[in-house]
Amino acid sequence: MSAQIQHLACVRCDAIHSPDEVRYRCDCGGTLDVVHDLEALAGRDLLGLFDDRRSSRVPEDRSGVWRFRELVLPGADDAIVTRGEGNTWLYDVPGVASRVGLDGLQLKHEGENPTASFKDRGMTVAISMARKLGLSRVACASTGNTSASMASYAARAGMQAVVFIPDGDIALGKLSQALAYGGRTLQLAGDFDDAMRIVEQVCAAEGIYLVNSVNPFRIEGQKAIAFELLQDRGWRVPDWIVLPGGNLGNNTAIAKGLSELRALGLIDRLPRIAVVQAAGANPLYTAWTTGADVVPVRAKTVATAIKIGSPVSWRKSLRGLRATDGVVTEVSDQQIMDAKAWVDAAGVGAEPASCATVAGIRRLVDEGVISADSDVVGVLTGHMLKDPDAVVGYHMGSLPGIVSTHANAPTKVAANLAAVRAALAD
Ligand SMILES: *Cc1c(COP(=O)(O)O)cnc(C)c1O
Ligand SMILES: [Zn+2]
Repeated sequence: MSAQIQHLACVRCDAIHSPDEVRYRCDCGGTLDVVHDLEALAGRDLLGLFDDRRSSRVPEDRSGVWRFRELVLPGADDAIVTRGEGNTWLYDVPGVASRVGLDGLQLKHEGENPTASFKDRGMTVAISMARKLGLSRVACASTGNTSASMASYAARAGMQAVVFIPDGDIALGKLSQALAYGGRTLQLAGDFDDAMRIVEQVCAAEGIYLVNSVNPFRIEGQKAIAFELLQDRGWRVPDWIVLPGGNLGNNTAIAKGLSELRALGLIDRLPRIAVVQAAGANPLYTAWTTGADVVPVRAKTVATAIKIGSPVSWRKSLRGLRATDGVVTEVSDQQIMDAKAWVDAAGVGAEPASCATVAGIRRLVDEGVISADSDVVGVLTGHMLKDPDAVVGYHMGSLPGIVSTHANAPTKVAANLAAVRAALAD
């Protein structure tokens, strides 16, 4: 018989639940963890196995999620719905490093996933789980990228996708994808936090499978960012991994994956994790600095992917931060857009939320939390073309409240050689 996960455990009260029933929360309201049978894996050369699979022709081996399936969802087998997610590039960006005050910097670009954000890593697992459970309808509330990913994977699996998006503040690239992939899209008169509240109720009432990151299997797929990042580096652990925080599923996932590798003795230390929030959507930062529980806020930021005031995974997130000696910081929209201009001009490019990573690194270096000679990997979470309005608005100087420090606006020029030569000489 193939390996199985052990059980689901409540993050709040430790109660145990079966992985074979549809359940996202404990009876106490706490979110759930997938608990693996690490003892059954002890002593196996998993890193060698993961490395060998990189040269395989089997789709499940080539996927940057399912390649690590023993630690993701063992026993998924025939239920797997994959688009070859992951396999994203780890860029050396010396120009960005000097902007943030580091000797060197690597950026792992999760915008290079099939639907152009890291959400595909969690979605391939959630949709495979839906198929395993025999379900035919899936739903999510989304600031955009989750819905784009869900709509694509649901279409591949022949499932109906129901998307709840907030009214306004959804980036054009993401909305295009949800519509194009055939998601039944409901634009709710409210913000993301309203949509999240309603979708949990709708899924319970209608028997639809909820694939927001409250779904513990999403988290299992997103752990593969950490696995693949280490694999890219020959399993050499960096000093820091830095990423943006919205609903806080992703930093939870990375910390969980690393802790499992450490528990198996496959790595000998943990990197420190830094979570960067937008100052206008900073409930985790406030909780971190005050030592209190997360208190919801009304979110406002240009980085729509992290415009979340009531994060679902805050308890798990704080646990991961403590386990990795992590930190939380916040950055302004101006700092995010300036950092984005550096990332874009390096020829890499990313959407605004992703660039909170780089703005956060700059702040932490300035404050002496990260030293200049540290080995730092930043995660870029989504593709530049997800939000073309932010790019064009910045370079045309038309983003409200933002000074376009590094604007690269087009020059209007007459259609003759002399005029063009004059413009180029400028
Ligand atoms: C979803 C998303 C985030 C936030 O991730 P969480 O897991 O919600 O903290 C950041 N950036 C992008 C591009 C995203 O799509
Ligand atoms: Zn509980």
